[in-house]
Amino acid sequence: MDCVFCKIVHKELPAQIVYEDNKVMAFKDIHPKAFYHILLVPKEHIESVNSERSEEKIKDLIFAVKHIISKEGISDYKLVFNVGKKAGQTIEHLHMHCLAGTNIQMP
Ligand code: AMP
Ligand code: ZN
Repeated sequence: MDCVFCKIVHKELPAQIVYEDNKVMAFKDIHPKAFYHILLVPKEHIESVNSERSEEKIKDLIFAVKHIISKEGISDYKLVFNVGKKAGQTIEHLHMHCLAGTNIQMP
């Protein structure tokens, strides 16, 4: 499948991976919109929040982000899902942005 995030999940494309478990991968955004900007994706390909069974995937992403930010010592952060092209979703693999630090620009 020609999906950038699937390629990162399968390690066919390099990324700065910050977290991985059997369901989730998290890596640094290539064009950060804040001092701290990571993306969290389910390892299984689903398109967006609008897809079937996105609820369980999002639960996994929330579990992972809480783990990551507590390890980083971060307490204040912004979580963003872009859903659909008109809302700015450029990659059709469900992903959650996590932004923290100064200069947060809404992605
Ligand atoms: P969205 O606009 O919600 O679809 O967000 C997609 C995000 O993926 C953007 O913030 C991009 O900077 C980021 N991105 C695109 N390609 C890569 C990549 N190869 N590695 C890391 N982040 C990427
Ligand atoms: Zn994918």
